[in-house]
Amino acid sequence: MPKPPPHAAAATSDATAAAAPAGSETGGVSHGTNFIRNIIEDDLRTGRHGGRVATRFPPEPNGYLHIGHAKSICLNFGVARAYGGVCHMRFDDTNPAKEETEYVESILDSVRWMGFDWGEHLYYASDYFDQLYAYAELLVERGDAYVDSQSAEQIRAARGTLTEPGQDSPFRGRSVAENLDLLRRMKAGEFPDGAHVLRLKMDMRSPNINLRDPVIYRIRHHEHHRTGKRWVIYPLYDYTHAISDALEKITHSICTLEFEDHRPLYDWCVENLPVPYRPYQYEFARLNLTYAVLSKRRLIELVELGHVDGWDDPRMPTLVGVRRRGYTPEGMQLFCERIGVSKADSWIDMSVLEQAIRDDLEPRAPRAAVVLDPLKLVIDNFPADLREPCTAPVHPHRPELGRREFALTRELWIEREDFAEQPPKGYFRLSPGAEVRLRYAYVVRCTGCEKDADGRVTVVHCEYLPDTRSGTPGADAKKVKGNIHWVSAVDGVPAEVRLYDRLFAVPHPGAGDRDYKLDLNPQSRTVIRAWCEPGLAAAQPEQRFQFERHGYFVADRYDCRPGALVFNRAVTLKDSWTKR
Ligand code: ATP
Ligand code: MG
Repeated sequence: MPKPPPHAAAATSDATAAAAPAGSETGGVSHGTNFIRNIIEDDLRTGRHGGRVATRFPPEPNGYLHIGHAKSICLNFGVARAYGGVCHMRFDDTNPAKEETEYVESILDSVRWMGFDWGEHLYYASDYFDQLYAYAELLVERGDAYVDSQSAEQIRAARGTLTEPGQDSPFRGRSVAENLDLLRRMKAGEFPDGAHVLRLKMDMRSPNINLRDPVIYRIRHHEHHRTGKRWVIYPLYDYTHAISDALEKITHSICTLEFEDHRPLYDWCVENLPVPYRPYQYEFARLNLTYAVLSKRRLIELVELGHVDGWDDPRMPTLVGVRRRGYTPEGMQLFCERIGVSKADSWIDMSVLEQAIRDDLEPRAPRAAVVLDPLKLVIDNFPADLREPCTAPVHPHRPELGRREFALTRELWIEREDFAEQPPKGYFRLSPGAEVRLRYAYVVRCTGCEKDADGRVTVVHCEYLPDTRSGTPGADAKKVKGNIHWVSAVDGVPAEVRLYDRLFAVPHPGAGDRDYKLDLNPQSRTVIRAWCEPGLAAAQPEQRFQFERHGYFVADRYDCRPGALVFNRAVTLKDSWTKR
């Protein structure tokens, strides 16, 4: 992860300014342009790949996907969709020690959830182990690769630096016959881990360190999640990746900028081996998101140290996490579209993501009244046994969605902050003598309150004004500035509500050499008991709502059940962070 650049804030506001209009209907395909699209369009024009577009998304199955991967998914699957091509789903599973089937399943599930489909194109680099090995023997026979028997430390020490050339290995001059014999015995399992490696014979004096005789095979006596115990030597990433792309006839191999210096090696592999295709690599800037960490190593640590409740904790920047948080795939796509694709490293502010989620949810989330911090309101002139029917639109701008029904009763729940015994200046809600509208019902005049021994308000009293009922002729003649939501204390249903906030309290967790865990936000989760309008009793897992005046919430995927409602806050209605 790059350190925050000095102009991080400026880069951030650029991204905000470049935001596309809200809610554009794209079906997950950006209509915008970027340099990758320009390259593809040029290639389509010139017929470089015979009019084909084939990309791939190549995660290593060593963790769960995160929001950074979403950018890569939208780009790779998005261009394939936009140009009538294909995007291959490929697991880069060359490191047996760190990979697990659990991760494979979750990654596939997350890509599908994002709205993309690889069709029949599901591949594993491990499917190519035989072919990769055959090419390795060919390289040895041609004198382009040799077995090095130095230790890992010796190899590292002899590699040189950016300013100093490397030094040839004493084993570099081994004969083809000796190299072939050693490679075959490596494969046969005759040597322990680390005894030998296979290296390309390139140039130890190259200014590009990646070309100083890169290692392409190492010994690893470790069971592989797919090939079991069949192999004890495993190919390295650069070699594997280039050849996998070529075998799958990928046209545009799109990766993040840190691979730019690896491109000459990529090109060497696809140009010097008898592979069936010549793919090209292009690099783009990876996503860096403020108030988050997007490295698998750190995410694993957060899970293992118990700072979060698991990979799908709604505070995690994983795709399973944001899903549980109530974010939608369309919202994630909108975000990816807005941040665009470029070659310049920059930071995207978390507020850009949060705004995309709001913009996606606003037009479709049904509304609901929920009181998060309940205070009892008694309408003293309202009959105790009356339940007066009220209705409200499911969505204020979409009448076709119909109306919600609930009843007004003498005793209600209101938000504690909607009453002030001594109102500050400009406070237009309830206070003794003041009038407010109870949404979708009457205007009420506050008559006073009761308090407990500690002086805490326990009940607020009011009287309703009979001619002010919402929706009846002349009701609006009564002008009031405040308009508060409420839930009947008779019919309201209780719920556990988990108020999630940003996982980190600072924009650049771990900036400098600080331990990023010290930057965790201690208030990232607050669990409360709330009262909901009766209709929410039927909420289905993953159903999303706008709780009026509060924000967007989702019925928890796993914990929400009839009779035991659980909602997670996805995002507040407005950006409250910039004011902190
Ligand atoms: P991490 O650094 O989190 O371990 P990684 O790059 O090792 O991630 P891979 O599983 O190898 O993770 O990534 C799969 C694909 O996703 C790669 O093409 C990689 O370039 C891309 N990718 C990973 N992180 C980001 C990011 N932050 N922004 C954009 N693309 C990313
Ligand atoms: Mg990787």
